[in-house]
Amino acid sequence: MTKVNRVVLVGTGFVGSSYAFSLANQAITEELVLIDVNEEKAKGEAMDINHGQIFYPSPTKIWQGDYSDCKDADIVCITAGISQDQEETRLSGIEKNAAIAKTIVESVMDAGFDGIFLISSNPVDIITYAVWKYSGLPTHRVIGSGTLLDTARYQHELSEYFNVDPRSISGYVIGEHGDSQVGVTSSIRIGGQPISSILKSHDEYKREDLEKIATDVRDVADVIIDYKHSTYYGIGAALARLTQAILRNENVVLPISAYLEGHYGFEDVYVGVPAIINRNGINEIVEIDLEKDEREKFNESVKVIRHYQDQLF
Ligand code: NAD
Repeated sequence: MTKVNRVVLVGTGFVGSSYAFSLANQAITEELVLIDVNEEKAKGEAMDINHGQIFYPSPTKIWQGDYSDCKDADIVCITAGISQDQEETRLSGIEKNAAIAKTIVESVMDAGFDGIFLISSNPVDIITYAVWKYSGLPTHRVIGSGTLLDTARYQHELSEYFNVDPRSISGYVIGEHGDSQVGVTSSIRIGGQPISSILKSHDEYKREDLEKIATDVRDVADVIIDYKHSTYYGIGAALARLTQAILRNENVVLPISAYLEGHYGFEDVYVGVPAIINRNGINEIVEIDLEKDEREKFNESVKVIRHYQDQLF
């Protein structure tokens, strides 16, 4: 039988269903299995997304399944959890979401899964660490969405500020997917030109504005939550991008939550950093240069993650 790509999604709430729709709408995988503790929700999402099949670039086989479907899966993506509007901050849902992740990972591994885990349940850096611990899989096959969404928001805001297509702008948000994240101003490049040169040659652009953009990006999830209770399309698209990078063996650099083993001077912690992503998962962590204040903020951010991680393990 021809081997086809299979993604299993666990948690078909707002985030999960947005991810599922992005996968189908871009024909990223041949098979997509939807699992939720609320079986009717998963069934309804499968039916609804299936009804768009003739409009997608090519068909995706989608069904509401169970954990036995994980045996042949290439990727299991966990988006199950308590959403942030039910909790005060991303960190306050930690124990409930870790408990949910534990039951899911045990069921997935009992089925004989031997692929790659993607995680977006919050607090994502800590839940990713928990999934790695519970699964026993190698660290390069457990990946958190980390600061991928924050970086996409950063590039979007920078594109509005500079009036340049976001795909021509690079610039990372690293650290915790949360309040201590770091928008790395020094990493901004437009068409390959470093931000330091751009600021020198263009009086209309100011470093303070860039710092404000990083702060706005950090806080924007709360603004959206005030407006519409939760955020899901952006993270759904980000997870689909990560899935494509893996299934198509892209070797693309994306900022995700990766396990540090001496990188950036830290050990035994999952943190948002740029990494080369391919069919094996995280192929290599990229260590970007940081200015002194960026390095200090990053160190603080890792300490925040560590503080909560230590409460769980
Ligand atoms: P939601 O309440 O809409 O969906 C959660 C789903 O998980 C529900 O359908 C629920 O039935 C299911 N679920 C709960 N326990 C389960 C279990 N044991 N097994 C299977 N399914 C289970 O919430 P949401 O808005 O989709 O958010 C989900 C998670 O994603 C939250 O932790 C939220 O904070 C996080 N999130 C992360 C990002 C990011 O950038 N990483 C962005 C937005 C939301």
